[in-house]
Amino acid sequence: MKQRLAARLAERRAQHLYRRRREVQSAQQPALNVDGKPLLGFCSNDYLGLANHPRLIEAFTQAASRYGVGSGASHLVCGHSHEHHALEQALADYTGRERALLFSTGYMANLGTIAALVESGDTVLQDKLNHASLLDGGLASGAKFSRYLHNDVAQLGKKLAAASGEKLVVTDGVFSMDGDLAPLDQIAAVCAQHNAWLMVDDAHGFGVLGETGAGSAEYFGLNSEQLPVYMATLGKAIGSFGAFVAGSEALIENLIQFARPYIYTTALPPAVAAASCAALALARNEPERRQHLNQLIVRFRTGAASLDLDLMDSFTAIQPIRIGDADTALRWSQALEQQGIWVGAIRPPTVPAGSSRLRITLTAAHTAQQVDQLLDALAHVQRALT
Ligand SMILES: *Cc1c(COP(=O)(O)O)cnc(C)c1O
Repeated sequence: MKQRLAARLAERRAQHLYRRRREVQSAQQPALNVDGKPLLGFCSNDYLGLANHPRLIEAFTQAASRYGVGSGASHLVCGHSHEHHALEQALADYTGRERALLFSTGYMANLGTIAALVESGDTVLQDKLNHASLLDGGLASGAKFSRYLHNDVAQLGKKLAAASGEKLVVTDGVFSMDGDLAPLDQIAAVCAQHNAWLMVDDAHGFGVLGETGAGSAEYFGLNSEQLPVYMATLGKAIGSFGAFVAGSEALIENLIQFARPYIYTTALPPAVAAASCAALALARNEPERRQHLNQLIVRFRTGAASLDLDLMDSFTAIQPIRIGDADTALRWSQALEQQGIWVGAIRPPTVPAGSSRLRITLTAAHTAQQVDQLLDALAHVQRALT
């Protein structure tokens, strides 16, 4: 075992795929202190700039002084607090669904939901670029598991026509490493045609897409019939922690009874739920955050296009620049850091081999000047490296 561990690490290093963690010594915000030095960050998923918002901090501290820190037990034992319950109601209201169920993490929500809905003899169909937690959920469910080409609705239709048992189609709403959207209107139509259920993981859409920020479902105008299983997380645009599934009464009660990652885990701290609740109100009632973010996205894309950088087909806050091999992506990332900019190099296995990229994310907390600073740094690195 010792030899295996050492050999694996050596191989990982040789492939330029070795991952290491950086120590952040400040709150999540554009101006970061990382390993003791200042860096301007463009890699957080805090799309609305809420992670360090005074209202969240206040809600968190107030709830902590009332409820303490630990929730004490799982939801079904005695850990389901008033704060969790109020958050579930706010989420159901925001998403326009009958009910919502809070999970401790998005990873667990996906594992638990897919496995609670399908079983051996059923079929799960997933987009090739779905998040790892969805793929793991599909594999763990015991159902027949198959992937369709990215956003290829025609191929999905063919696979659905040949599928057996209950059918569940699962897709990201916004793809986490590419920033593009799933064509949910078309996917919902093909699901209806084949009597399949649709589940959307909207980790990167909730809070930012749609008129009121209610996510991809709102953006495409899909109701609970067309999109019965809506899942999103609270650790990204909502600036807090946790995740939820929204849908019908029957769906949510099934998850409470049968979703093992829901049942067998400690409820998240009530104060975290209180902070999420405060964040939902801000996300909903302050559309200017989304407007500002959208202006920054346009500014960035215009600037990056004039530098001839290889942008991807995205109008969301996720604005990757395609580089190619892992080694080069890493060198770009390191050179940007020398310019005071922190952008992560995303490499296999997170993305397919040969498509390593800089995953730039913009947030409502950035200023136009900071986006210009990023563009200047990219221009500089481009001159130095190409
Ligand atoms: C981040 C993410 C998750 C996991 O959510 P956590 O709450 O961080 O566990 C799931 N799906 C997608 C698409 C994500 O980007």
